[in-house]
Amino acid sequence: MPIYHLGIDDTDSLKRGCTTYVGALLVERLLPQATFLDFPNLIRLNPNIPWKSRGNAAICLRISTPMDCDYLLELAEEVVEENRDRQDEKNQPGIALLEGGVPKSLKLFGRRALYDVLSVEDATSLARELGIYYRTIKGGRGLVGALAAIGNTLEGDHTYELIVYRKKETWDGQRQVDRESVVEMDQGTYPYTFNNLDYETGRVLITPHGSDPILFGVRGEYPSVLRQALKMLKFSGGEMWVIYRSNQGTDAHLINNSAVAELRPYQAAVLEGKLMGTPKVIRGGHAIAELGDATGRIDIAAYEKSGEIQKVLRELLPGDRVRAYGGVIPHEGQPTRLTLNLEKLEVLELITAVARSPLCGKCKVRMKAKGRNKGYKCEKCGLEAKYSIMESLDRKAKKGVFLPPSRSVRHLTKPLQRYGMEKSWGSDSVHSFFGFIDAKDSP
Ligand code: ATP
Repeated sequence: MPIYHLGIDDTDSLKRGCTTYVGALLVERLLPQATFLDFPNLIRLNPNIPWKSRGNAAICLRISTPMDCDYLLELAEEVVEENRDRQDEKNQPGIALLEGGVPKSLKLFGRRALYDVLSVEDATSLARELGIYYRTIKGGRGLVGALAAIGNTLEGDHTYELIVYRKKETWDGQRQVDRESVVEMDQGTYPYTFNNLDYETGRVLITPHGSDPILFGVRGEYPSVLRQALKMLKFSGGEMWVIYRSNQGTDAHLINNSAVAELRPYQAAVLEGKLMGTPKVIRGGHAIAELGDATGRIDIAAYEKSGEIQKVLRELLPGDRVRAYGGVIPHEGQPTRLTLNLEKLEVLELITAVARSPLCGKCKVRMKAKGRNKGYKCEKCGLEAKYSIMESLDRKAKKGVFLPPSRSVRHLTKPLQRYGMEKSWGSDSVHSFFGFIDAKDSP
């Protein structure tokens, strides 16, 4: 039986819809006529793309079925058309259908889409070259994400998300999810689920805020722990659930080990270098420092909401060595001036001493420099010294990896609790990834 990979993106807007919901409806339609070769895939792409509506998500369904390409494309188009936000000018849905195995060039395209900015032209010519069937509605921008979703086959580290969708008539209403049950679920499933709550503010993180079809989503390591989480939660208004396999929480986008001189706007990048000056704190509590490597210098910025990253950056000194992870953002009106907005900071080395002018042995005051490389002189008694002295520092800053609080992390960011839990295999056995909330087949 033929194997197909169906990728879909850009069906939603800020106000309405959700590409994963389109995926769920397609899962429901396809289940009676197809064998799923993997869990439905939820692929997050470069989070710095300016035209994304929220979390830059795309989906891919990998199936084996006797149905033909035309039927599958028509079915996908019908579901996308019925569910996309027609009021919104910006969404440009893309549907891609690949028959057979995933070629290496498509995997590479998928990999690049995690950190770079790709063009619709590149996507179109790759689709043509590989004989991938596709449909685009309006501009066709969604083809980039649709292809990238197919190309990201999640052969290494991955996580799962169980999403419960709500009934259409409740989309504009408040979500009914019992907070206490979220706390109990979080504690009962730790460390195999993540980002359920922000313990600093007490905020529940599993529920989104817009008028979209998602009631809540729980992220975790294995499908079984998510089904267990669903049983522990108390909620109303749910209609159906899907378990997606995903690159969320894996740092999949932080793979572009770059040099300052090579950076381009809107990339996700990893830079290693030294702080070139003392970090500044600007209005709003944001911290900015200059980072230098062998090829150039760039500002790295930690916003107030980045919590610990911002506090750590403020404590750093010129000469400290760091690895900075984040999004490359151009300054308004100055497209060539770039800043790396930090989403993760790794402090690699801290300087332990600084060169200072020597103390006068007689007067016990600090000598003044006579000029560059000209030595030092005591202003009181005239005593001279040739060299500076190294003075050791008592540092508050610590080496390590620092992340924003869970309420501000990106979907792709790997939470600290996942360090050491990374997977090196593909999918777990594919079963029980869809159900109706009130039906007896719910987990
Ligand atoms: P949601 O998370 O709610 O599904 P979204 O944030 O995924 O929404 P989309 O509406 O899918 O936003 O818009 C993202 C658009 O950016 C899509 O058209 C997608 O094809 C495109 N895109 C994704 N990754 C890249 C990339 N690396 N380079 C260029 N375009 C991209």
